Amino acid sequence: MRIGILALQGDVEAHAGTLARLGLEAVPVRRGDELEEVAALVIPGGESTTMSRLIERQGLHAPLREFAADHPVMGTCAGLVLMARDPDDARVTPLGLLDIRVSRNAYGRQIHSFTATLDGEATGPVKAVFIRAPRVEATGPGVETLLEHEGSPVLVAEGPHFGCAFHPELAGDPRIHALWLRRAGLLEDQERVA
Ligand code: GLN
Repeated sequence: MRIGILALQGDVEAHAGTLARLGLEAVPVRRGDELEEVAALVIPGGESTTMSRLIERQGLHAPLREFAADHPVMGTCAGLVLMARDPDDARVTPLGLLDIRVSRNAYGRQIHSFTATLDGEATGPVKAVFIRAPRVEATGPGVETLLEHEGSPVLVAEGPHFGCAFHPELAGDPRIHALWLRRAGLLEDQERVA
């Protein structure tokens, strides 16, 4: 099974390495027709305003929305901003895959990055790396919060889609990716995590 990683900008390689640990082949996606080759898509971190501009320029907005209608998508950090219904920034054209309102770079310009250990029923203890992270300010009724940090959701799920304010691909731990694909029915429960 091949998992696509939107490769217009951002940290594509770390996601590919994380997926490889689950025995999954990751392929870069830069054009709409490349979505036909993959079972699910990761939208990585990076700069959401730049990524949004590139999505529009490459004519990827409609293909991404069509893909997401029947395939799982996971966005991390800037990817979460792109997936939000309300990204609260006119430079980001919302994909609207998660019924959430976010505030970009909300963890303060002083604290550009930090690591926290979080715990959730679905995930177990997770080391979460935050880099100029967006804050989830509001969630719609169909959105499930799987992890929180100081009262704000930092891992949310809606249908087959996951949005993550931190960077699970940087922590050397593939469990968040595994949980996403397992819940979407693409990974067996007993499949080993290397
Ligand atoms: N601050 C970035 C944005 O909103 C996200 C940072 C990241 O992906 N590490 O686009």
